[in-house]
Amino acid sequence: AVINFGSINIDHVYHVEHFVQPGETLASAQYQQLLGGKGANQSIALAKAGADVRHVGRIHTNDAHIKQTLIKHGIDCKHVQCSETPSGHAIIQVTPSGENAIVLFGGANQELDAKTVLAALDSSKSEDWVLTQNETSAIEDVLTQAKESGLKVAFNPAPMTESVKSLPLECIDLLIVNEVEAAEFAGTDDLAAMEEYFHNNWQHGEVIITLGKRGVVMLRKGQRIEVPAFVVDAVDTTAAGDTFIGYFLAAYTKHTDAKQALVRACAASALAVMVDGAAQSIPDLDKVNKFVAK
Ligand code: ADP
Repeated sequence: AVINFGSINIDHVYHVEHFVQPGETLASAQYQQLLGGKGANQSIALAKAGADVRHVGRIHTNDAHIKQTLIKHGIDCKHVQCSETPSGHAIIQVTPSGENAIVLFGGANQELDAKTVLAALDSSKSEDWVLTQNETSAIEDVLTQAKESGLKVAFNPAPMTESVKSLPLECIDLLIVNEVEAAEFAGTDDLAAMEEYFHNNWQHGEVIITLGKRGVVMLRKGQRIEVPAFVVDAVDTTAAGDTFIGYFLAAYTKHTDAKQALVRACAASALAVMVDGAAQSIPDLDKVNKFVAK
């Protein structure tokens, strides 16, 4: 199984003529409430890709319906706890040109603690993987306790913050970063120099750098695997990275060859960018299989 310690957010999306100005009260004619958070998105992508996934997270007591949505996707939610703190949420304004402005409140996501981490790892099996992002608390506990339990650890440091660099990075078996996050680690935005940085400073684990429409590079035991992106008409790249991670890990944790797992992940994320939205743009396995076979 993949045990994902991740955020669960409610995205409140308002379609507005322009971003609200200081002192202004702005009416929005359209409102949508969507399930979001990198953690939840990645769990949904994993589940759609056919992985056995256990989500560990925290939401407000009144938002138990979110848990039902995750369970409907086939995700084990035994360790999704309820609290009196508001669920993590985002207030998202979208303008007619598709630009967005976001206010994010971490809420219950920031209440994940060492005790919860221990409890969730208690029934783990040696072949399980642990996954986490940078949208919850207790990340240090997740990394160290997963390692102590002898599990493989995948980390997606998104959104990237300064504090990531002081985490026990030696616990990470697989780092998955986009170009912006890779540049933060390497101190350069030149791809060759980034690869050089990871080659020299990251011998304990594997690294995947996703490159948007240019595809992906994986550095693995002295090996370099590059896979181009599929050429598609992108309409909304939200959750491209989450889809990639879910589909990659679903294949890789079942010992699919790395190159093949990367191709599947590129296919799934190419399909995701052709559709509007976050979680609802993550394609089903059938669709990915057909796309890869073409
Ligand atoms: P993030 O969403 O985390 O910033 P990327 O932008 O690197 O991550 O996208 C992740 C993956 O999604 C890429 O490696 C690529 O396979 C796919 N992807 C992203 N944008 C496009 C695009 N415009 N066309 C095709 N595939 C894309």
